[in-house]
Amino acid sequence: MALFSPKKHFHSIYDITPEFLHTVGVRALVLDIDNTLVTYQTPRPTDKVVEWINLMRSHGVGVTIASNNDRARVEEFCRGLDVFFTYKSGKPGSKCIKLSCKRWGILPREVAVVGDQIFTDVLCANLGGAVSYLVDSLGGRENAFIKFKRLLEKPIIRSYKKHHPDEFSEDKNEA
Ligand SMILES: [Mg+2]
Repeated sequence: MALFSPKKHFHSIYDITPEFLHTVGVRALVLDIDNTLVTYQTPRPTDKVVEWINLMRSHGVGVTIASNNDRARVEEFCRGLDVFFTYKSGKPGSKCIKLSCKRWGILPREVAVVGDQIFTDVLCANLGGAVSYLVDSLGGRENAFIKFKRLLEKPIIRSYKKHHPDEFSEDKNEA
């Protein structure tokens, strides 16, 4: 189960701050695009996403965009962002973590993979020796395979929530 457990859960990327990363020793982020930064249907980053990425970089946090989506999607998304990116990243394979380590001259444990899927993003981080941050899916339309994976994610998230209440952000409605 540990391979499927995120180190920490956030409601959204905006809850991740440079100050927090600094305190836990994370020096670079590997960011998923689809349903993490924007929905599948959003071709370009929103102003808010750009602002958040720039905030990270202005605090010396390295940013890599790593998507399993195709070249056209990722290039269009990253155009103008001046950001290091990889497409068809093969997550949960850990190639994107290795690239990030090389790029920033850091160790896997100083990299956090941020994403919305347990079997892709969280597993990638855990297999690659990086830190994994799970965010809530932005809820855009998902294909049948992802919907299937969502069903499998549910008991894992429930168990994680039960065993690691301090690392899990409570439902906004309950707060
Ligand atoms: Mg995703």
